[in-house]
Amino acid sequence: MSEHALLELKNINKSYPLGSEKLQVLFDINLTVHKSEFIAVRGPSGSGKSTLMNIIGCMDTADTGEYFLADEAVHLADDKTMTRLRNRHIGFIFQKYQLINKYDVLQNVIMPLLIRGVPRAEAIERAKVTLAMLGLENRLKHKPNELSGGQQQRVSIARALVGEPDLLLADEPTGALDSKTGEDVLTLFKELHSQGHTILMITHDAYVGAQAQKELHIIDGKLYE
Ligand code: ADP
Ligand code: MG
Repeated sequence: MSEHALLELKNINKSYPLGSEKLQVLFDINLTVHKSEFIAVRGPSGSGKSTLMNIIGCMDTADTGEYFLADEAVHLADDKTMTRLRNRHIGFIFQKYQLINKYDVLQNVIMPLLIRGVPRAEAIERAKVTLAMLGLENRLKHKPNELSGGQQQRVSIARALVGEPDLLLADEPTGALDSKTGEDVLTLFKELHSQGHTILMITHDAYVGAQAQKELHIIDGKLYE
């Protein structure tokens, strides 16, 4: 892996079964993300963005190619190692937040720490600090569906940040928000970037993509600078 690279994809190919055939979705993807970069990958619907995000997020594996994350060879990892890499290194932010509605805000945010084996009392303290940083200190006992979309997205950003991941991986993070609230989320991403966080944001939206430090394009499963 090159120096200061957080992750490196080399000639990644991915296909899905389609009847007796297969549908190739990613073609020879090469991508290096360095620490503290804020990169957008922009492309139209169906271009392979979520497929790429799932591979980078250690939720799915490529057919061929190499993937290194924080000096680990993900393409050689077994399921158990993939789970550990995902939990240790990646904070996920989704278009539809993916919060658990029967749990309150605090319970949602401590979850990744509990999975990692952090003691409950410590997890609660860390979650409270992160939620306060995002202006949610008065929402700890609220259920997600009692909050606005913008607040729910901030809870999901708190959940992504609480484990101090190396990479924030966001798939259409403003896709479900009105433009003002979406702007607030982008401002927050810029602040996190200026604090040294590494962010990879996937979007179909030209304005959203232009807010990143660097924008790449994905078209029909091929990645372009
Ligand atoms: P995007 O996020 O850019 O809209 P996706 O990565 O979701 O694109 O999908 C890319 C292509 O792969 C689409 O043609 C989609 O129908 C197909 N695809 C995605 N996931 C699967 C799957 N699990 N099984 C079969 N085909 C899939
Ligand atoms: Mg998608």
